[in-house]
Amino acid sequence: MNGSVSSWDLSVGVDGPGTRFVLFTAGCPLRCRYCQNPETWRMRDGRQVTTGQIMAEIGKYQRFISVAGGGVTISGGEPLLQPRFTGELLRRCHAAGLHTALDTSGLLGVRATDAMLADTDLVLLDIKSYEPATYRRVTGGPVEPTLRFARRLADLGRPTWVRFVLVPGLTDAPENVDALARFVSGLGNVERVDVLPFHRMATGKYERLGLRFPLAHVEPPGQELLDRVHAQFRAHGVASV
Ligand code: SF4
Repeated sequence: MNGSVSSWDLSVGVDGPGTRFVLFTAGCPLRCRYCQNPETWRMRDGRQVTTGQIMAEIGKYQRFISVAGGGVTISGGEPLLQPRFTGELLRRCHAAGLHTALDTSGLLGVRATDAMLADTDLVLLDIKSYEPATYRRVTGGPVEPTLRFARRLADLGRPTWVRFVLVPGLTDAPENVDALARFVSGLGNVERVDVLPFHRMATGKYERLGLRFPLAHVEPPGQELLDRVHAQFRAHGVASV
């Protein structure tokens, strides 16, 4: 099975538990204003690989990531743009005894089969906003498919971490955060919410690609705003980190 990928890397922290082998697939239907990986946007810019090649690459680190309580995360771009490639990788990693995570915006959640989700130990679901107008302003797309996918994951009981990028003046409205916290608290399968503070580290990448970083003028959130947002999640009984 062939797929188009942008790169892979080892990471610790936000891509799932432990040390992770993270595969960045190429191609994404959204254009988030704060995207840190604009080099992954177009599938044709990726490198053609087979699942066998990726499994061989993962094999080099398998012992290390297993001992470190980690696993494999399929990220992007949007992995569900290549559902068969992503599904096969998840299946093979799962069969090899590796912890598997799928990092997705959920926009194309209908393309994830139940079998694929059964091979996914953890879904990292990026809910970029709850309010539809804000979601569209942030991503250029609709929020409803993501919310539908979140409900389906809840029905299937799949462990999920929700990720929310906090951008001052864009996603930080108290009503937006409150509505997201209420929605998440009603799901029952969400183990935690990662509140990811917006940063501008990708500015150089945009320049190299000849693109303009639309949020170049926006400051990262201060501690006061972060505290308020965490308190809003806590108020709904949601663990946020
Ligand atoms: S969904 Fe992810 S990869 Fe796609 S534009 Fe948004 S942040 Fe970038």
